[in-house]
Amino acid sequence: MERENAWKGYKNKKELDKVFKFAEGYRQFLSECKTERECTNYFEAKAIERGFISLEEVLKKNKKLKAGDRVYATNMGKEIALFVIGKEDLSKGMNILGAHIDSPRLDLKQNPLYEDSDMALLDTHYYGGIKKYQWVTIPLALHGVVSKTDGTTVEFAIGEDENDPVFCITDLLIHLSADQLTKEAKKVVEGEDLNVLVGSMPFAEEIKKDDDKKELVKRNVLNIITTYFEGLDKANGNKKYKFKEEDFMSCEVEVVPAGRARDMGVDRSMILGYGHDDRVCSYPTFEAVCRAKKPKRTVCGLLVDKEEIGSVGATGMNSRFFENTVAELINLNGEYSDILLRRALSNSFAISSDVSGAYDSIYASAFEKKNSAYLGRGFAVNKYTGARGKSGSNDASAEYMGKIRSIFEAENVYYQTCELGKVDQGGGGTIAYIFGNYNMNVIDGGVAVLSMHAPFEVISKVDLYEAYRAYVAFAQNA
Ligand code: MN
Ligand code: MN
Repeated sequence: MERENAWKGYKNKKELDKVFKFAEGYRQFLSECKTERECTNYFEAKAIERGFISLEEVLKKNKKLKAGDRVYATNMGKEIALFVIGKEDLSKGMNILGAHIDSPRLDLKQNPLYEDSDMALLDTHYYGGIKKYQWVTIPLALHGVVSKTDGTTVEFAIGEDENDPVFCITDLLIHLSADQLTKEAKKVVEGEDLNVLVGSMPFAEEIKKDDDKKELVKRNVLNIITTYFEGLDKANGNKKYKFKEEDFMSCEVEVVPAGRARDMGVDRSMILGYGHDDRVCSYPTFEAVCRAKKPKRTVCGLLVDKEEIGSVGATGMNSRFFENTVAELINLNGEYSDILLRRALSNSFAISSDVSGAYDSIYASAFEKKNSAYLGRGFAVNKYTGARGKSGSNDASAEYMGKIRSIFEAENVYYQTCELGKVDQGGGGTIAYIFGNYNMNVIDGGVAVLSMHAPFEVISKVDLYEAYRAYVAFAQNA
């Protein structure tokens, strides 16, 4: 039951152009949005351009919503929900596309800066599942926010502009690696050693007291950071902000691979970039929701944070944010009642959109060939995910799987079914089971990724485009 290569569906230049043009939009987005906050800001700005209004504004004006209205809500700057109101009552259910916008990375600790042997370093705690040895000797950028005690927040990114400096975690030279190379891969580079080198020049100005002559490299780094934030603040028209070391306490700084996503392959059929998981599903989700015009059922796109660490916290899928937002929508359209909210949720259909591990012939022994996702064979549907006997999975019903197939087949969407690797080789979870908690029909599906969770991951442009087509078909016809 081998599935066809999706490129076969694109026979002439005009058809291929659609795939490449869509992928180019995605490549730009992926290059510019490397954190959940940056993704939220991007989608909010694009949503406003495309006629969405914020729920806050709708509530303020006490506006009644009608079919075709476009509403969005953000959550703490790290999550966004988008709705195109349908002709049918909300209690009949929505067609929901859910994906996540956080990606594996290194976060700075709250007391990160230290000096050792005339080098200044930033200590990190990794976020999500990573192979630690992959994060050394590659150019890194710092993206984040500083929240000041006056209640204002400064956003910044260093390492993306061509003229910016970049950062790096060093590795031990091969010449002295006799001991290191005998270690298990998970211990070759240890989590506590993921410290980012950020400076090596001592503070040059004259220092009067004897005590202050210690840690001059660290002092110099702090001085440069302070000057940097003064400049940023000035550009924003604020009064000068003096960054102090204590301010790291209220920072959220994410260390991510520096540089833009690139076309890959002599045929340019792929994209190499940081954070395909799960922005490669988030971007087409957003585009598909925008396509909806006066749909029968309300179409919803939900782009959440914290999936990589278990969907926890206020901005993760386990939060009440989504439920609260739907409650607000029901309330706007007349009498709110708990039963209407429950009906709206349990009558909904959802695709939990997340990436799948693509079959990799170099590591064939980790995969089961008949049930793997293949690069280029279209949208990858997982009836179930999980590990060790499907644990943690949603496991969609055969009936819902049948419904999904009929929707895709009616629109000639290229799709494949898969599970993540061989039984008992590992596994993974998604946000699907949390939609399932609302007694909603939900299935996992997304784009196949090579080198998933590595600093640079690979996707096929045709899979991205088929995901978009799958979402459009689902939004219109579920
Ligand atoms: Mn994911
Ligand atoms: Mn992941």
